[in-house]
Amino acid sequence: MRAIQLKGIGDLVQTEVPKPNIVAGQVLLRVTAAGICQTDVHIRRSTKRMIPDGTILGHEIAGEIVDIADDVQRFSIGDQVVVHPVWSCGICRMCVAGQENACRNTGGRFYPPPTPGVSVNGGMAEYAAVPSSALVPAAGLDPVFAAVLPDAGLVPYHSIEAAKDLLRPGATVVVIGIGGLGQFAIELLRELTGATVIALDIKDDLLAAIKDKVSYAFRSDDPAVAAQVLKVTEGYGADVVFDIVGNTATLALAAAVVAPYGAIRAPGLSNGVFQFETNQLSTSLPWGASITRPYSGTHKNLHDLVALAKTGRIRANLTPYTFDQALLALDDLEAGKINGRAVIKMS
Ligand SMILES: [Zn+2]
Ligand SMILES: [Zn+2]
Repeated sequence: MRAIQLKGIGDLVQTEVPKPNIVAGQVLLRVTAAGICQTDVHIRRSTKRMIPDGTILGHEIAGEIVDIADDVQRFSIGDQVVVHPVWSCGICRMCVAGQENACRNTGGRFYPPPTPGVSVNGGMAEYAAVPSSALVPAAGLDPVFAAVLPDAGLVPYHSIEAAKDLLRPGATVVVIGIGGLGQFAIELLRELTGATVIALDIKDDLLAAIKDKVSYAFRSDDPAVAAQVLKVTEGYGADVVFDIVGNTATLALAAAVVAPYGAIRAPGLSNGVFQFETNQLSTSLPWGASITRPYSGTHKNLHDLVALAKTGRIRANLTPYTFDQALLALDDLEAGKINGRAVIKMS
């Protein structure tokens, strides 16, 4: 079968590999669509070994079940599904508490459970063998849209869930970075909360495209941006700040606009460093404010997100590519040409 495989450091190729065999607990998917993420660009360009040599990329997978291991009961040939990217054990105390993204048997303090396309073979291929415990039924959804739900949709969904106590009507939310994940965050905030949404980005075209969906859209690199956010929040700052970018400047901006007892949720991975001070007169972070690094999402989160997607009330800005254009799609993403999410649509 055709696959996008990392042969070694910096060596990502389209190639032919054997069709995978399934083992107990797995199903074989005919991949119908696979999303492309900034993480894939990082993996391709990394000069260090980020993932095992030979890994097939693709952690956003939609597919149709074409084979099932004998011990798998709940699914049938022909089912349309998406794949949760957290392949957890299902039985440890974090899994049974619904926090599969912090599984104690398959992950560790600084590494997550197995992730398709990162630590095990993923979905940028014609077929993928995946555990049935990671499947979420997605019948009726366009595969190109369904494919991006397990990451571009799930990460903001989980981050919003992680701050939902603060997202009451009347709350103000800042979203820093309105690419693929940030646009999802705004769709979800509009649908799930009554919060006032402020979008921040360094790109005027992204701000112009989103302005009808938010209350305010400001340049995040404008020296006056923190003052602008404070002005529209009566000087208190935003109840919740989602830093989808996660560089040192955006983390500092998040701290500069978060309210007392507000929350910074920072799923972005751009090598940022955050300043934390504890002296009485510090203005680095207001009293009571918190910052966390939410990882991916829980299985419940993806079930809920797929259900929400099935209502037709959330949209994503998607750019489809053929399988043979997958490396071109990565080039385009790296060059900043994708407004939203690039997706490989299998024919
Ligand atoms: Zn990703
Ligand atoms: Zn577990």
